[in-house]
Amino acid sequence: MKEHSFKLGIDLGGTKIEIACLNVKNNKIIYRKRIPSPQNDYNKTLNAIKNLVETTENELGLICPLGIGIPGSISSKTGKIRNANSVWLNGMLLEKDLRKKLNKKIKIENDANCFAISEAMDGAAAKFNNVFGVILGTGVGSGIVFNKNLIRGANGISGEWGHNPLPWKKNNFDSRPCWCGKIDCIEKYISGPAIENEHKNRFGEAFSLKDIVQFYSDGNENCKITIDLLIDRIARCLALVINIIDPDAIVLGGGLSNLDFIYEKVPKIWDNWIFSDYVNTKLLKALHGDSSGVRGAAWLNID
Ligand SMILES: [Zn+2]
Repeated sequence: MKEHSFKLGIDLGGTKIEIACLNVKNNKIIYRKRIPSPQNDYNKTLNAIKNLVETTENELGLICPLGIGIPGSISSKTGKIRNANSVWLNGMLLEKDLRKKLNKKIKIENDANCFAISEAMDGAAAKFNNVFGVILGTGVGSGIVFNKNLIRGANGISGEWGHNPLPWKKNNFDSRPCWCGKIDCIEKYISGPAIENEHKNRFGEAFSLKDIVQFYSDGNENCKITIDLLIDRIARCLALVINIIDPDAIVLGGGLSNLDFIYEKVPKIWDNWIFSDYVNTKLLKALHGDSSGVRGAAWLNID
């Protein structure tokens, strides 16, 4: 049976592959399943996706278009995957190979773009036109959605804000190389691992981010220094975005988005760097949490 209100989304992560079937008429997920990601093996990855899709469609009795969110992106010049930290995907013609295996319509997008489209369609920013979605997790990624349309860009890199240098640097700035080959990328300063490393280097305390936040809440001075710096940096980095695309809403996802004080503290100081006498942009927590990846992938096939 073909049913156009049902769309499949896959979140192809480094450790797990998750599939969901979304009913876009009522925004409800009617099916979801997770399997571990095959490691370092492209063909096993293709077969795992094929099996997951076929099992899902058999169990549901539906044939649906498929969207896939991946770490990295597809080069519009070569059609090959690039910039994926699941490195066995890089250089591969994933979309073409999966189309051959599954014989169906498939759209593939960067996972941060999927997050942004999910939150803009029926998430925290559903009522806003111009939306910037950011994942602050082990890495930093983002996507831009304008009037419910994902902005892909001339080079397919729109929203790759995490690999710009940290803006408005302070004097006592330590320079940090990034895996992308540049130095001082935003990702090296406001991701979870970056904060844990920084705290350890400055104070000799090997705390998890969770511990740092807990101790900060308990009044610990060292953790306050680390968290205050994080707030200041997030504000500067988002001010840079606001000065360029001036979004109605910025939605945060990923591990750091669960820190509720970000939504209170960042907007109190970001006007220090925003080139305007007032700031209407709203800073919002993602509504769909970990489900945004599969939901956004499913939304890719809305025409
Ligand atoms: Zn970088």
